[in-house]
Amino acid sequence: MIEVKNLKKRYGNFEALKGISFSVEKGEIVGFLGPNGAGKTTTMQIITGFISPSAGEVVIDGKKVDGFDIKFKKKIGYLPENNPIYNDLSVYDYLSFFANLKNLKNKKDEIRRVINLTKIEDVINKKIDTLSKGYKQRVGLAQAILGNPEILILDEPTTGLDPNQIIEIRNLIKELGKKKTVILSTHIMQEVEQTCERVIIINKGNIVADDRLDNLKGKN
Ligand code: ADP
Ligand code: ADP
Repeated sequence: MIEVKNLKKRYGNFEALKGISFSVEKGEIVGFLGPNGAGKTTTMQIITGFISPSAGEVVIDGKKVDGFDIKFKKKIGYLPENNPIYNDLSVYDYLSFFANLKNLKNKKDEIRRVINLTKIEDVINKKIDTLSKGYKQRVGLAQAILGNPEILILDEPTTGLDPNQIIEIRNLIKELGKKKTVILSTHIMQEVEQTCERVIIINKGNIVADDRLDNLKGKN
């Protein structure tokens, strides 16, 4: 479903991605694991069409990624690493904004659906900057699943959360990821073990491992 083919990305003279390739099948939940600076965010931003690669391509369902294509935007839900802006909006207005951006039909019903799924009923009239980090991530996930996309791209979804919030968000991701294709970027192996079926490990812009977790752990 998602084919990443020989992706390279340069920032000036620095090569952040050195020609990475992998593919993800429909319905898989894949962890994209690597230390800070490995190239995870860059890869997620190329898959979602936010930035262009210097070489190589990403093909989704047989079509080259195009960040300007509205059909493509509906197919992929994206939770960026630091969801920085929009802090002044209420949760409801924030979700309305994205529902409009994705040009959804039945906006109100769809917003209601994602509010229920992510259990944020209590905060829909609050401004985002007044929320706890755990709630902010729930709101981010609600935004990502607006329109019921087939693919979810989640970049470091539990960074900065406390242990209870981490458990809640991981469980929510597992729940929301059923029947979807998910790529979850993280620097925490435990997160992959608890949430994913397969792991792709990236280091310094190269893929260094790609395997099912059962194989890595040994079948015992
Ligand atoms: P991460 O935790 O994924 O490493 P970064 O702090 O590297 O995140 O990046 C956060 C944002 O800043 C990203 O949008 C990234 O593209 C941008 N960024 C990272 N490094 C640089 C840099 N050296 N110059 C300009 N922008 C950068
Ligand atoms: P990760 O998400 O794994 O932490 P990133 O993809 O954010 O890694 O960054 C990979 C490398 O590219 C880092 O060294 C980062 O500083 C650099 N980088 C990321 N974005 C930019 C940018 N916009 N300009 C320059 N360097 C960048």
